[in-house]
Amino acid sequence: MDRFKALLVSKTDSGQTVEWREMSAADLMPGDVTVRISHSTMNYKDGLAITGKGPVVRRWPMIPGIDLAGTVAASGSADFRAGDAVLVNGWGLGETHYGGYAQMARVKAQWLVPVPSGMSPPEAMAIGTAGYTAMLAVLALEAHAVTPDEGPVLVTGAVGGVGSVAIALLSKLGYRVTASTGRRDEEAYLKGLGAAQVIDRAELAGKPRPLAREQWAGAIDSVGSTTLANVLAGTRYGGCVAACGLAQGMDLPGSVAPFILRGVTLVGIDSVMAPRPKRLDAWSRLARDLDKAKLAAMTTTRPLADVVALAPEILAGKVRGRTVLEVG
Ligand code: NDP
Repeated sequence: MDRFKALLVSKTDSGQTVEWREMSAADLMPGDVTVRISHSTMNYKDGLAITGKGPVVRRWPMIPGIDLAGTVAASGSADFRAGDAVLVNGWGLGETHYGGYAQMARVKAQWLVPVPSGMSPPEAMAIGTAGYTAMLAVLALEAHAVTPDEGPVLVTGAVGGVGSVAIALLSKLGYRVTASTGRRDEEAYLKGLGAAQVIDRAELAGKPRPLAREQWAGAIDSVGSTTLANVLAGTRYGGCVAACGLAQGMDLPGSVAPFILRGVTLVGIDSVMAPRPKRLDAWSRLARDLDKAKLAAMTTTRPLADVVALAPEILAGKVRGRTVLEVG
């Protein structure tokens, strides 16, 4: 396939434009492996890139899409052969390097992760960056000795992509999960994923106090801002909070009290530049610890053509769980 379709965002004097283009393999960016993309997905960051509501794209024009999965079409690397099932998360895909909203991509071999055995490319994209980030956050809690015996773990932004996968993973691993959401009508969905308790996110929206009642042994926060400050204030002595998102905001209006009076640890989670061994570990744990029925329950499948319409929906917090995009 020399010619292929791609979504291209461009910067013009009058703002950002988004259009479907026919491109050729010669237009692809440098890399040693060419991938025929079968599936991609929609993350919060992709919503920002397509709408231009956040500074995600840093090279113009750009094919957005921070994730892709498919099969190797041609390889100049000894590590991958034509026909291998592969996935990519991050590394600047959809930001500085042409991304997943196209039928073809060319990338560096060291960015590629083999799709784990027993997992299909659409399942890999149902997980996507959101799910792989949730796994990185679970690994961080484990590394800080937050075991199921220590007490409940809070997940904020629960109905979103990171939140949904985090709940499914934690419950399978034996944690008692408290889910915080603004969508109380999704309580049955969250309990189906394994949440033991569902709280209204309004409980974490008030002006943060330096310390609050000790509730959670750990937390996975994809919301940031006031919510994260309240999460830290309510974390038990010696607990750990993994911060991975900013759906509410980038600020952190809290105090150092949880750190210096309760020994709470705040761990930052970055999926984009995470080193390859960490990614391979996260993907092998996802293959082992994510219940496939729960993954299916949180996933909606749409054609890639719908991606432009989906972008404002995910930013408005209207998308539930994960969305797979069939590239075809
Ligand atoms: P989603 O849009 O799927 O989920 C975000 C959720 O956050 C929403 O569903 C909603 O949950 C909650 N939320 C949204 N707005 C607010 C608000 N104003 N106040 C409180 N809660 C709010 O996004 P993703 O799960 O894909 O990503 C979540 C965050 O994590 C994003 O900020 C994203 O950029 C970040 N991220 C970071 C990564 C990293 O490498 N660090 C990688 C992947 C994602 P509910 O409806 O349940 O209230």
